[in-house]
Formats: sequence, structure tokens, C-alpha cells
Amino acid sequence: MDSSQMGNDLENVLFTEAQIHAKLEELAAQIWRDYEGKDVLLVGVLKGAILVMADLMRALPGSVPMDWMAVSSYGSGTKSSGVVRILKDLDADISGRHVLIVEDIIDSGLTLSWIRSNLESRNPASVEICTLLRKPEAAKVEIDCKYVGFDIPNSFVVGYGLDFDEKFRNLRDIGTLAPHVYS
Ligand code: 5GP
Ligand code: MG
Ligand code: MG
Repeated sequence: MDSSQMGNDLENVLFTEAQIHAKLEELAAQIWRDYEGKDVLLVGVLKGAILVMADLMRALPGSVPMDWMAVSSYGSGTKSSGVVRILKDLDADISGRHVLIVEDIIDSGLTLSWIRSNLESRNPASVEICTLLRKPEAAKVEIDCKYVGFDIPNSFVVGYGLDFDEKFRNLRDIGTLAPHVYS
């Protein structure tokens, strides 16, 4: 779905598909340099990261394996609490491996901070994070994120894998919703 097919549900386009692709090409080049001579396992967090994973991994100039985790965050409504339950665990044993977590967005950082320490407890060689979006003003915990696509203001965004109530994940661009959609 294109932004023009959102009717009046879309308030503002923040990043077009082309801008997102260009940024992921940049990040992929940087990642490929940093992991030269090492095997890296990409770990995506379902479901939001599916499109970041798809485009990031295709921008890498060599073969890389991927794995997926699904988690649910206990909390009131849309705000995450940092208390996390694993809905789907990794297929792979990551001990001794270099893990790169692939995420759509870091908001409070609570979910990812939990995932990171969970993965670190499995004795990997390293754990780094790549996120397409980050909201610096929303941070509740400090997260060391090595690869960041764009820092954005503290507003709710959809598209490119990101949903509102499971809708709009298939929007090609990333944008903010008009208030009538969620109020
Ligand atoms: P955190 O634990 O960092 O507060 O939240 C992490 C998860 O909340 C993200 O992986 C994402 O699924 C969801 N989330 C946070 N901010 C947004 C947003 O602006 N839009 C959408 N669609 N999801 C968000
Ligand atoms: Mg996510
Ligand atoms: Mg969601």
C-alpha cells in the first residue's frame, strides 16, 4: 500500500520507501565492514522487524543466516512495561556466535533491553543491535544501539512493518496517523 492509498488516515509521511532503502544500504555496508572475518547471525523481533530484516539482509553483499524471536510485553495498553514473555524462541543455539538483533523501533527501550540481556545470558560471542527507528525522548533505559537508521520525535508511527492494532504494516512508507484513527 502506498501513502496515497491511505485516504485521510495518514497525517504525515516521515520517510519514504526510497529513503528507508537508502538508509538500510548504508547500515548494511557498515555492518559488513564491522563483521569482516566473522559469522553474524541476524535475529529479528516479530512482527515489526520483518521488512527491516528483508531489506537489510538483501543489502548485505554476502550470505547471512537469520533467526526470529517473538515476545509479548506485559503492560497497560500500548505502553510496554519491560516485563516480557517469550512467545517464540530462537531456533538456533547462539552460544559462541555473533548476534545482531534487528528491530523496527526503540521506544522506551524496555523490551529490547530485556531481549538483549536474555540473549547475553546464553553466552554468545557478542550481541549488537540494529534498529531502523529510535525515539530518544521516549527512552526509559539506556540502550547501547550500534546501528540506528533514524532518530524520530516521540510520536506514534506506522508503516514498513509497524502497526496500529495490526493495521498499516503493509504501508510502504513510514508516517504518523491522523488523530481520528486512534481517538
Ligand atoms: P519499547 O519496549 O521500546 O517501549 O517498545 C517496543 C515495541 O513497541 C516496538 O518494537 C514496537 O512494536 C512498539 N512501538 C513502539 N513505538 C511505536 C510506534 O511509534 N509505532 C508502532 N507502530 N509501534 C511502536
Ligand atoms: Mg519491534
Ligand atoms: Mg505493534
